Amino acid sequence: MTPSLPPFGQPGHWFKGNLHTHTTQSDGKVTPSENVQWHADHGYHFVALTDHNRVTDPRAWVPDAPILVIPSVEISARRAPVEYHILAIGVDAMPIAHNGDPQATIDAVNAAGGLSIVAHPYWHDHTLEDLLALHGHHGIEIFNAGCWLDIQKGHSLVHWDAVLRRGQRVLGLATDDSHWVYPDYGRGWELARAPRLDQPAILEALRRGQFYSTMGPEIYDVQLDGRQVTVRCSPARSIFLVGDYYHCPTAAHAWDGRPLTEATFTMHRQQEYLRVEVVDMDYQSAWTNAYFIGIEPESR
Ligand SMILES: [Zn+2]
Ligand SMILES: [Zn+2]
Repeated sequence: MTPSLPPFGQPGHWFKGNLHTHTTQSDGKVTPSENVQWHADHGYHFVALTDHNRVTDPRAWVPDAPILVIPSVEISARRAPVEYHILAIGVDAMPIAHNGDPQATIDAVNAAGGLSIVAHPYWHDHTLEDLLALHGHHGIEIFNAGCWLDIQKGHSLVHWDAVLRRGQRVLGLATDDSHWVYPDYGRGWELARAPRLDQPAILEALRRGQFYSTMGPEIYDVQLDGRQVTVRCSPARSIFLVGDYYHCPTAAHAWDGRPLTEATFTMHRQQEYLRVEVVDMDYQSAWTNAYFIGIEPESR
């Protein structure tokens, strides 16, 4: 049997979650309980309330939460003149004062057992150097709905490939960053593969990259067989295998208008990493994390 690349084919269940949303505890327009209830009503299994520079403790604010609420915070940091927002997922208290150094912030989040994510690089107009100056963080946001809807700087895929290409093995996350002023919710989420739904299991799954991120399309499987990669997904306009190359087309398109649900690609040279992106008929994307699998070059 052809082996699947994780998180596909792994034991466990799929759990849907949003890791970036605001409440009236900072600049969001809904209360913590209204926020959590919305996610519960829309099929989410977990949510991280990430108010600015204060942990919205679910035990205090949503004691009867119908879904898993992971205590979290979005921490402002700066290394003048560059600003960063660092998501700290799974921390009970501010692990460090805000407006400190971004690396110290990441280190403090990690030391507190949290997941550290660099939020919305494109919204900050981060350069490659701004991102490569950091290390030890678990991931970066590759899609942020609020930054997209506000100023069309929600997609940070160029940033992601640029750091991946240089060996920074960070996870890619899609989030809402919902402030609830307009419908900036339900637009980007994670599907995590975990043995059970509790905070340790979800955090461990996220930390290990056992998830994919999506705006809607579903990815059912990614299999690797020698140099062949097969992707199965919900109906798609395009299926891409993205890597560190440009002379080797690795895309399948529904040119005839009939949606694709499968594509197989053959790699023709050594790849440092690969990732899969699926685009549905409404131009919504889903993204796997990057695979550093070192596909062998074709013998010549
Ligand atoms: Zn932010
Ligand atoms: Zn935010």
